[in-house]
Amino acid sequence: MKLGKYSIGIGDRFAHQGIAQLRGIVKANQFGLDISPVWNKSNREHIYVHSHPTDVRKEADAAVTALAFKGKYFVDADHINMGTVTPFVETADFFTLDVASFIGKESKPEEIQSFISSCEKYMGQLIIPGIDHPLVVSESLLEKIATKFLAATQQASEIYHFLKTSKGEGNFITEVSMDEVETPQTPIELLFILKMLADKGVPVQTIAPKFTGRFNKGVDYKGNTEQFAKEFEEDVLVLDFAAKEFGLPEEIKLSVHSGSDKFSIYPIMAQVIKKHDKGLHVKTAGTTWLEEVIGLALAGGEALEMAKSIYANALEQKEQLCAPYADVIEIDATQLPSVEEVKGWNGEKFANTLRHIPGHPDYNPNFRQLVHVAYKVAADMGKSYTDLLEKHSDIIGACVEENIYERHLKRLFSL
Ligand SMILES: [Zn+2]
Repeated sequence: MKLGKYSIGIGDRFAHQGIAQLRGIVKANQFGLDISPVWNKSNREHIYVHSHPTDVRKEADAAVTALAFKGKYFVDADHINMGTVTPFVETADFFTLDVASFIGKESKPEEIQSFISSCEKYMGQLIIPGIDHPLVVSESLLEKIATKFLAATQQASEIYHFLKTSKGEGNFITEVSMDEVETPQTPIELLFILKMLADKGVPVQTIAPKFTGRFNKGVDYKGNTEQFAKEFEEDVLVLDFAAKEFGLPEEIKLSVHSGSDKFSIYPIMAQVIKKHDKGLHVKTAGTTWLEEVIGLALAGGEALEMAKSIYANALEQKEQLCAPYADVIEIDATQLPSVEEVKGWNGEKFANTLRHIPGHPDYNPNFRQLVHVAYKVAADMGKSYTDLLEKHSDIIGACVEENIYERHLKRLFSL
């Protein structure tokens, strides 16, 4: 099973926007692209929303049928591990093996030694075609990398082989993710991580490293974009080298777990993949949920009231809601409007405050990040929330489609 050159991960917390999301992708594909949608949902999201992996498969199939979509599409068991993978086995065909928590775990000294020995031919000045400086590979560097990553790649191998047995070889896409950590992986680390995966028989098709800079939820990239550009391009070239050198799948590509809305680096990624004629997978997630809240606000009446009540509840439960996301949000509480203030807003003002239009005078990234992590509040509202999604599906669907197409795909694919 192959993913295709371009793919986009679309999360949909409440499984109501599959068709609208797909409409956005179809619109981009009319420009001659062949972007595959991948509906991704993690175990954590399922727990919060009280949904089951089967629901994502149903949603994806229904959207594809409704629009008579002819391209490839996938259902991603996002960020699974050995303990959480089982309920996803039957209905997912894309598995993101999250081995971040195994980084730095101990490996046997003889395994580390044998890895170092297997890398002898790369020691010294290693030339990666396209990278303008040689990578300096020393024994001590290899030892450091093996000590840090061998256990994580071993874990990836165990999950992969479990899936291979249960689903059959070649019947699913394998992604390995290491993005949910503090320290970014450097291109040289990535190179040897890929060698470890190849050695252990993991045919990784997408890999999600942690990149330099902050990837806060639902808002733009924060960091040095020039440094990101350099690192991203080197990673792309490392993957190309690794595929040929270690026998990994030739279509291997980077997966950027964007946390949604990294608008300032989208054009950088677009330029690099175009320059080297490479593929890309970008995961977005909560951006669609935010469009639901925007759509509710625009719908007015009881729907606007619900949007306001989601914010009021989010503000009240701020600490609990933010805690699991501490590393990936930055909210300046002094910039959050009070419940009283928001009560006086009309739908337009609420939507403009939440919608991610950089430079818009009403846009408030603090407000946006808080609502981003507050989907649990809507989940707790249960049917009263989803009933309003259905009642206002036209206006919400238009917001979702516009967001995916205008703000994401246009920037990602230079349309
Ligand atoms: Zn991730």
